[in-house]
Formats: sequence, C-alpha cells, structure tokens
Amino acid sequence: MKPLFSKPLSSYTLIILLLVGGTGIIHGLLTENYIFLIALQCIEFIILILVMSHVYHHYIHPIQKSVHTVDELVKGNYRARVHHPAQGSITDLGNKINMLARSLSEFSIQEEVKAKQLLTVINNIDSGLALIDEKGYIHLVNRKFTQLFGDTMNDYVGYLYYEVMETSAIHETVQRIFLYEKNMKDHFTLQTAGDQRHFEIVGAPVFNEKNILKGAVLVFYDITEYKRLELMRKDFVANVSHELKTPVTSIMGFAETLLEDDTDEETKRRFLEIIYTESKHLRVLIDDLLTLSKLEHADYHLNVEQLKLSELLDSIVPVIQHLADHKQINFICEVEENISWYTDREKMKQVLKNLLVNAISYTPEKGTVRLRVFSNQEHISFEVKDTGIGIAEEDLPRIFERFYRVDKARSRNTGGTGLGLAIVKHIVEVHGGNIRVESDVDEGTSFQVMLPKHPNRK
Ligand code: ADP
Repeated sequence: MKPLFSKPLSSYTLIILLLVGGTGIIHGLLTENYIFLIALQCIEFIILILVMSHVYHHYIHPIQKSVHTVDELVKGNYRARVHHPAQGSITDLGNKINMLARSLSEFSIQEEVKAKQLLTVINNIDSGLALIDEKGYIHLVNRKFTQLFGDTMNDYVGYLYYEVMETSAIHETVQRIFLYEKNMKDHFTLQTAGDQRHFEIVGAPVFNEKNILKGAVLVFYDITEYKRLELMRKDFVANVSHELKTPVTSIMGFAETLLEDDTDEETKRRFLEIIYTESKHLRVLIDDLLTLSKLEHADYHLNVEQLKLSELLDSIVPVIQHLADHKQINFICEVEENISWYTDREKMKQVLKNLLVNAISYTPEKGTVRLRVFSNQEHISFEVKDTGIGIAEEDLPRIFERFYRVDKARSRNTGGTGLGLAIVKHIVEVHGGNIRVESDVDEGTSFQVMLPKHPNRK
C-alpha cells in the first residue's frame, strides 16, 4: 500500500479514491446491499490502481525520465541518458534520445579537442596575438603576447584595448581597421627597463558569416633582432665604403701629383711608395672582407686535418720574431712538446698570426710578448700575452666587432684593417672553441683561445 501514497503516485491514488468514492455514492443509490457495494468498490479500486500503476510505470514515468534527460542535454550535460525499462514506442523514444545524447557528446568532445588544439597553436606561435571584439573589448591574448608586453592574460582579457594597451600605434591600427575594414600594418618601439624593443603590428578585421565586422585580430612581431641586423648591415656597408675610400682617395691624390710634370725624382719615388703601401692596405682589406664573408657563409666547412704544433710554429715564429726584433720586443714561446690536434691548418695560422702581430703592434719598444700553448685530452689552449698599451674596460666587449678600433689612427698606422679580431673570433667559433680577453690599460693584454682537439666530434 505504501508505494501508492509515495510522492509520484499519491495524486493519482487520490484521484482514484475520489473516483471510487463518487461511483460508490452512485452505486449506493442503486443497491442497499452494503456488503456487495463495498466488495464492488474494492474491486473497482484494485482494478483502477492496477491500470494506473501500469500506465504510470510504462508510459508516464518513462516520458518524465525522457523529459528530464532532454532537460539535462539542453543544459549541456551530454552524459545524461534515459535508463528505464520501457516497451513499445516509449523504448524507441528513449533509444533515440540516448543516440542523440551520444552524438552530442561525441560532437562536444571533438569540439573540445579542436578548441584545445587551436589554443595550443595560438599559445605556441612565436608572435603575440590579441583578439578584439567590435566594441573594443579584448577576448583573447596568447602566451607570447604576455611575454612581450608583460602582465598575465587576466590583465588584458575583458578590458577595453585602449585601457590596457598604451601604445598609440596600436590604437591607430585598431581604429584604421574598424574604419577601412582592411588589413593594416604599423610598427612601434617600446622602451623597457634598460633596452629598446621594436615591434611590427599587423591587424586584420574579423567578419561574421553575414559579412558584418565583428572585431579585429592583431598580431605582434618582435623585430628587434631584425632591426639590429639591419643596422649592423647599414653600419657595415658605411664602414666598408669609408675604409675603401681612405686608401683610394690617397692613391688618387698621389697619382694626380705624379702626373704633373714638375715632380722631382725623389718625390716621385716617395709618392710611388705611398701608393704601393696604400694598394697593399687595400688588398689586405679586400682579403679580410672576403675571408669574413666566406666564414659567415652557412655552408662554410673547415678543412680539418691533423696538425703538429711544431709545424704551425715553424711557419709563424720566424715572421713574428722578425717583427719583435724590429721593435726590440722580447718574444717568448712557452709550448708543450709534441702537441698535435685536428684543425684547419691555414685558418689556425691566421688566428695565431693575427693575435701575435696585434700583440707586437700594440706593445711599445722593449716590451714583452709571450706565447703559451698547453693542452689536455680534449682541448688545446693558446695564450698571447703582451705588456702593451692595454684596452680600456669599456672597449673590451666591442673589440671583436668588425672595424672596431680603440684608436683609429694608431690601428691604421700599424696597417690594421679593424677586421683581424672579428676574423679570429669567427674562426675560433667555427672550430667549436671560444676566445677570451683580459686587459689593463698601460699594463698589457692577454688573449686566450681554447679549441677542441677534434672539432667535428659532437
Ligand atoms: P686592427 O687591424 O685594427 O688591429 P683588430 O680587429 O685586430 O684590428 O683589433 C681591433 C682593435 O683591438 C685594434 O684596433 C686595437 O685597438 C685593439 N687591440 C687588438 N689587440 C690588441 C692588443 N694586443 N693590445 C691592445 N689593443 C689591441
């Protein structure tokens, strides 16, 4: 009896009771046999209850369950299913709802996967990205964007772009996109703590399927490195032109004077010597430029072979000794016996010669230049140390730059091109080694080169 008055069935039971009561009153008018009347009403009650229970369990309850499941699906709970043993068309309804739920669930999983993939791509692209709606609110910024401009995504998303992005170039780009409904490009510079970064901004309008403007997507490229390289290239071209112009102007000037008839023999000879020296300088400069350009070529490869230190020194030391003697410089060689390693012979000669010639050039007469060579199992090290003029601390980081000279006039007088150390550094690096410098003004300079004995072995 109890289930009949449970919550879902109580209202139906009440109706049946009223119905039985009603028919009981009508039957009471027709008969006075109360025992028969009670029996009749009891049978009526039982039949109605059985019919109601059947209808409820096989129709009403499954439909209620189905409605509840559909409600859950509408709310986005695609895992909801109809679990009710029903028969006939009601089973069909339940099965169809379950099929629909399964399709929706698969669809939502696919959508979720796609959304995650898209977010992963957006977050991993190497450019900053921001999505703005037609009212100017930011809907999305990617990881690179926050890396470039600081703060977190929450500091941007949901805010008006002009409230959180201060740069006027960004404001103008967005306004022009909204005005002309076309892609726009601009660039700007940001001053961050201690350094300056350059950005290019490319913006594109976003339209909906009815071709109505719905916002804009902005892409930010960090072009600082590109700008630096462009500046270096411009500087390099300017430097090369300047370096070539100096000897060429000098050659032209002296040649012009020589062409005049009234030049005496001794002056002629002096001028020809100058022309010869300047031509030699031009030749060295062009050779150095070609060497640098070859070294910088992506597919440049070394001519690696086994080299004995004694062979290398035999080809260099006499020249250096001669230069040292000329300036009464004490040239000392401290080398380990029997060292051999794998290297590019000619390039190695160039490294050592450049460092030793510099040491002699920038050391006053009666100074000392010392070459030390030592090795362990993996590496060979060279140290070229002099008691020369030294290099000021602020110049030290720049001496490996092309054409950088501490004292331009002095360098030119020594026949230097300003490219020697740039070439040395390049050669050392393509061998997989490194070069360091220590110096004190008026005390001397020491260059230390460390190279792997097997440059091709990783
Ligand atoms: P350069 O042809 O002018 O010598 P390098 O590239 O070889 O060009 O050297 C760059 C600059 O570094 C030189 O102009 C010089 O100012 C400085 N320098 C190089 N070696 C020494 C040294 N041993 N002592 C002092 N200054 C040096």
